[in-house]
Amino acid sequence: MNQTFQNELSEVITKFPDLSIRQINGQDILKGILDICDESSSVTGSFSVEIHSTEKFPYRFPKIFEVGGEIPCNADWHKYADNLCCLTVEQDEILICRRGVSLLYFIEKMAIPYFANQLYRQKTGHYLNEYPHGKDGVKLFYAELIKSNDVKFWHSCYEHAFLNTRTGRNEKCYCNSGAKYKKCHLPVEKKLHIIGKQKVLDDINWITA
Ligand SMILES: [Zn+2]
Repeated sequence: MNQTFQNELSEVITKFPDLSIRQINGQDILKGILDICDESSSVTGSFSVEIHSTEKFPYRFPKIFEVGGEIPCNADWHKYADNLCCLTVEQDEILICRRGVSLLYFIEKMAIPYFANQLYRQKTGHYLNEYPHGKDGVKLFYAELIKSNDVKFWHSCYEHAFLNTRTGRNEKCYCNSGAKYKKCHLPVEKKLHIIGKQKVLDDINWITA
């Protein structure tokens, strides 16, 4: 049983009265309806969900399942065969959870936007601000993080971040943007450190393989 998850349940059901606490295999879960609203607070869609804890919560997301069958179980729709919803790429999740996330934050800032996006896709046929599934999604994540589509530069950034190449904070950045290092690729490298040296290297090699 994950105590952090447990402790936050009552706060969540106060805020979301359509969710209630149930037990599955001796574990408390949240089950019920999540309403998605537009800017004027009218409900534009409702999804039947279950939210389960994970061992790593709050340093990883809990698991959320869409159990009402509104969304097809299809990787391209970011939903797996067991109804598990894929909210973002793992690397992004690591960054978001670096100081821990609350269950409320997860529901309000991750789950609800995910379902709002699903509604948008049902209406328009395409997503807004979503990472594509699989390798393309991870590639886009790194391209945005490193601020470059050039995989050769990703290697330079990796080496600079992890292999002791030093640039002074106030010197010009090695990417030739003309900006100071501290405002350019230093913050990028800090994020790479949170993701972890081996994982970044594995990801870059996987993407470029
Ligand atoms: Zn730079």
